[in-house]
Amino acid sequence: MSIAKKLARKELVDMVPYQSARRLYASSGAMQGKIWLNANEASGPGTYQVNSDSINRYPDFQPESLINAYSQYCALAPENILATRGADEGIELIIRTFCRAYQDSILICPPTYGMYAISAENHGADTITVPLTKELSLDIDGLKTQVGQAKVVFLCSPGNPTGNLLSQQEIKTTLEMFADSAIVVVDEAYIEFSPEQSVSTWLDKYPHLVILRTLSKAFALAGLRCGFTLANKDVITMLSKVIAPYPISAPVADIASVSLAKSGLEQMRIRVQETEILRAQLTLWLQQQSWCSQVFSSDANFVLFRCKNKAIKDFIFNSLAEQGILIRDQSKQQNLADCLRISIGSERELSLLQQTIINSFTTTTAQAVAQEN
Ligand SMILES: *Cc1c(COP(=O)(O)O)cnc(C)c1O
Repeated sequence: MSIAKKLARKELVDMVPYQSARRLYASSGAMQGKIWLNANEASGPGTYQVNSDSINRYPDFQPESLINAYSQYCALAPENILATRGADEGIELIIRTFCRAYQDSILICPPTYGMYAISAENHGADTITVPLTKELSLDIDGLKTQVGQAKVVFLCSPGNPTGNLLSQQEIKTTLEMFADSAIVVVDEAYIEFSPEQSVSTWLDKYPHLVILRTLSKAFALAGLRCGFTLANKDVITMLSKVIAPYPISAPVADIASVSLAKSGLEQMRIRVQETEILRAQLTLWLQQQSWCSQVFSSDANFVLFRCKNKAIKDFIFNSLAEQGILIRDQSKQQNLADCLRISIGSERELSLLQQTIINSFTTTTAQAVAQEN
């Protein structure tokens, strides 16, 4: 047995890490030239100038210009904002701050974002699941039975991989239910696609509310690794005890601040509008395909759809992969049998995707006919 296996916490030995889109398909070397529609990234261009003065110095714990820029953008005071290495670090910090290892639990509502359960497992916290209903809303009665059992409740709105917003009334009911016993996290990674639905203005009323944000999706900065945790001051103070001393590198703070200035925000809003147009076109196209049995309505930069059966799901996924077009298989998630998720890339990427699917069916049908004759 290797020394690493011998000495590691034993639950890590067999643990499977998060199968991120980038771990499944590395972006370097042989994988270059592919079309990436599997991680809900923006299509680009992704070039920024960096101001690299003073790189000999440690950055500020929370770079002031960055926090002020986000404060302006989200209309909350700087004391309500913690900048993190992506929203993923926010998830991890919340669990490490509020859950005692091997004693406490988080609660998730699948189908949902995979990192909540992975971060909990990594930390040694248990995961309680209260699945979404068939209509993809919160199961309020199911949640009620778990009050007192979980320290942190994760809600995702708009949801990933489902794409739908949770109703504000249901979020409110959940907040009230867990007011004395749990931190309620609302993951707003995709909120730029429906900004009026944010619950950030509720912080005054709910001391246990925490909101997660990111620059990875609508801001097109997934490679930067920059996210924000929004909460009341007491919660931010507690999270600040757990986070690394210099979580945001100076070039990251620099680029993020530019993206949050006036022209950066304008570009982001244009990107959101373009994405919504392409999303409507892709949704309509999917609805017209005989092999597609359901298209989920989306308030985010991706579309989830269900294929008529597993064979068709695999055929579409594999035909696209063979042509270098990568989408995400969500069929292992609760209630999402035969489902695939497509990120809204550029217009060209999406038309290539459609053409590739059409061609694969035509070729396969032609081959089947030829074999019969
Ligand atoms: C992408 C995503 C995140 C992680 O965002 P990063 O800032 O890139 O870490 C968090 N939550 C949801 C729901 C996401 O889809």
